Amino acid sequence: MNQYIKTLVDQGKLDIVLQKNRWKFDQTPYIISGPCSVESEEMIVDWAVKLRDLGVTALRGGAFKPCTYPVKKAIGNWKEGLREDGLKFLISAREESGLPIVSEIMDARQINELSMDAIDVIQVGTRNFQNYSLLDELGKLDKVILLKRGTWGTIDEILGAVERILVGGNSKVAICLRGVVGMPSYRHVFPSTRWAPDLMMIPALKELCEIPIIYDPSHATGYSNFVAPISKAAMALGADGLTIESHPDPVNSISDPDQAVSIDTLGSILKDIYER
Ligand code: PEP
Ligand code: MN
Repeated sequence: MNQYIKTLVDQGKLDIVLQKNRWKFDQTPYIISGPCSVESEEMIVDWAVKLRDLGVTALRGGAFKPCTYPVKKAIGNWKEGLREDGLKFLISAREESGLPIVSEIMDARQINELSMDAIDVIQVGTRNFQNYSLLDELGKLDKVILLKRGTWGTIDEILGAVERILVGGNSKVAICLRGVVGMPSYRHVFPSTRWAPDLMMIPALKELCEIPIIYDPSHATGYSNFVAPISKAAMALGADGLTIESHPDPVNSISDPDQAVSIDTLGSILKDIYER
């Protein structure tokens, strides 16, 4: 144990994260995939079955979507997601495919019978990484929490946010790394590369504790061509799994079209991982 970690342990700061978060996903690697947003019932049900047949472990799809420009983005009944309808469509997708559902809760007021029925793994979005009242409520639940790192989050802030959920009594937290604030120097060539992949945090966190780590190459790169190499790197560095945005017609995704991968790309990423 290095001196920094020893000091944190001696001060009792890491104790709870070290002691209480000893769990693993029932399947590893744990591969989550699906569209950024649930777009229609037909789309999510068909896609879920295709993903299951490809070897994906869990289906993702946003019903509540935090949009940077909420007005510009509203299309028909899609207003920052299909919301309650989206949750119902996710339930249909789970019934058809058998895949557990990973989806985001943006606010404690969205914790209710329908959302708890629909969501097996609750995603905390980057923007809510330090929303303490939300984390406190999630600590009271008996559900896996996939806590996405804030784009600004230091290692201490990550551990502190995990601790906040654990102290409520929920001992199943996984961290999702999804890229951080940076100034990618290739942005003028690849405009959708907003974030800098935070790969080193995988071994850094692994050295500190046993929190399962899911890497998100889609948001970290912002660009579908980079999803495969960064997926490979994350798995080689010890990630417990990945969350990859995929879509039947990537360029026409309602949200995050530049980073969504096709079924063929996803298939080759999975082949690579499973044959490793
Ligand atoms: C998402 O996973 O669709 C998402 C909104 O990600 P993030 O919170 O990392 O931006
Ligand atoms: Mn997205």
